[in-house]
Amino acid sequence: MIPRKKIIAGNWKMNKTQAEARVLVEDLLRDIGRFDDAEIVLCPPFTALAAVSELLNTVSNIRLGAQNMHEAASGAYTGEISAAMLKELYVRYVIIGHSERRQYFHEDNATVNRKTKAALAAELRPIVCIGETLPEREANKWKNVLQTQLIEGFAGFGEKELADIIIAYEPVWAIGTGKTASPAQAEEAHQFIRKIVGDKFGATAAEKIRIQYGGSVKPENAKELLSKPDIDGALVGGASLDSRGFTAIIKNACSE
Ligand code: PEP
Repeated sequence: MIPRKKIIAGNWKMNKTQAEARVLVEDLLRDIGRFDDAEIVLCPPFTALAAVSELLNTVSNIRLGAQNMHEAASGAYTGEISAAMLKELYVRYVIIGHSERRQYFHEDNATVNRKTKAALAAELRPIVCIGETLPEREANKWKNVLQTQLIEGFAGFGEKELADIIIAYEPVWAIGTGKTASPAQAEEAHQFIRKIVGDKFGATAAEKIRIQYGGSVKPENAKELLSKPDIDGALVGGASLDSRGFTAIIKNACSE
């Protein structure tokens, strides 16, 4: 079996000014700056990327991610940010297709496909978010939804592309709601995702790909969720805004 290093990412969403970001990162560097049992990624808002990058660039194991990017290399796209702009700030990961982007900014699977392609071309590692809504879960349509998001989102890709992609399974009903999928529910979805990846891209791609769980991950539930065999990390929203909470998630999730 190919070992998969856990990856825990903090999605700060539209929170933290540069000054606030510096305070949070200084605390995190003190607590987990040299932590090596998991890959740790911080995804601040665009305006704080440079400040966070400067702090992380020194001696830490913590990596930088962005929350979004545009698929074009440059041009008349007011308000948007390109992959090259992110690369210049030493960004290595980029969240693509977060449910809030899908819901509020009308991003669909085709958008996710274009952005993921552009991120890979720029050698950024995409964290591609998929997940069903509450009505879809209640109607027992979650498998169809996840399958469509994967097939359309990864259309035209092969094993090579999959090797650099991280999938985040984020049931929309669990994001920012305080409701977490039970470890058994999350594991069932992760197994299903891995099976779809295997059917479409082959057994090696399925074994290698890391699948994060996201949705109200907290210090109290992180260990049980991440102890499941197909849960390879977490994408953490609210609880990543506080250094003690985020540090506790990482340490709990990675302790034996
Ligand atoms: C997220 O936004 O990706 C997320 C999982 O948020 P929260 O942890 O706050 O539910």
